[in-house]
Amino acid sequence: MEFYEALYTQCVTQFDAYVDAGTLMNNYAHIFDLLTRLRQVVDHPYLVAYSKTVGHPEGMKNEGNESMESQCGICHNLAEDVVVTSCDHAFCKTCLIDYSATLGNVSCPSCSIPLTVDLTTQNSVGKVTRSVKGRKCSGILSRLPSLVDFKTSTKIDALRDEIRNMIEHDGSAKGIVFSQFTSFLDLIQFSLERSSIKCVQLNGAMNITEKGRSIDTFTHDADYRVFLMSLKAGGVALNLTVASHVFQMDPWWNPAVENQAQDRIHRIGQFKPIKSTRFVIKDTVEECILQLQQKKQLVFEGTVGDSPDPMSKLTEADLKFLFQI
Ligand SMILES: [Zn+2]
Ligand SMILES: [Zn+2]
Repeated sequence: MEFYEALYTQCVTQFDAYVDAGTLMNNYAHIFDLLTRLRQVVDHPYLVAYSKTVGHPEGMKNEGNESMESQCGICHNLAEDVVVTSCDHAFCKTCLIDYSATLGNVSCPSCSIPLTVDLTTQNSVGKVTRSVKGRKCSGILSRLPSLVDFKTSTKIDALRDEIRNMIEHDGSAKGIVFSQFTSFLDLIQFSLERSSIKCVQLNGAMNITEKGRSIDTFTHDADYRVFLMSLKAGGVALNLTVASHVFQMDPWWNPAVENQAQDRIHRIGQFKPIKSTRFVIKDTVEECILQLQQKKQLVFEGTVGDSPDPMSKLTEADLKFLFQI
């Protein structure tokens, strides 16, 4: 938590400076980035300390090299279901949708150039849509100085306890773990497997064969209890009815985007009741995000007619609420 406190103090200082200068909304993308970092630190400090873009807060420019693994300018993980904008910045499609929903329009989070793209339609996004080829050889685990000294986090410990409970109550139970950050899924997988809990992962950096193999293993191999899943992995039909538990590791900005992604799983012939657990760390930005979602939901429930997404458009007041000033 010291790491969180330190980063939080740093963010508030930056935030205050923008408020004093009257330039808060001009620096929306940077504020959003600070919030993303805070959310990542709550998951695990490694996500920020060993981020690929340490020292490149504005995100990495995609150099147009087709074989290069694209880094998402929003979540700073390997981009999934990649969108490359006309200004050559790469993002996960879902990250860009989630970001745009909070802003109310689409401008590039990395360079603020307005984007005239329709994210609701398949394959009409930006200049090119392409998938990332090859294995994730440059994952966060390879950037840690030592795996021997690997430390878990509060959330990972809590997840492991929940999974052990699950298995104790039902010897054949299986669970799906969701996170917005694939690097976090890597850390979870490493931690759980160190505790002899077998996992498979599905993320947007995998090809169709690898995805199929993951789903097959989870469905048919009784030893594999946990399916680690990125909701950003597009274009895959999922029938994960063997799972009876869902673990949500972090909140999204826009609950509608989160629900849509989860519907892809629940809709398909699920008849068993699902136990869902959400992990939220007290006194952090996560609590503020959930409170803000509720607050906005209440406001919109009071309005007549078509209600917009509960989390659309973060106003200046919302940002101040998130930083609790
Ligand atoms: Zn992303
Ligand atoms: Zn850009």
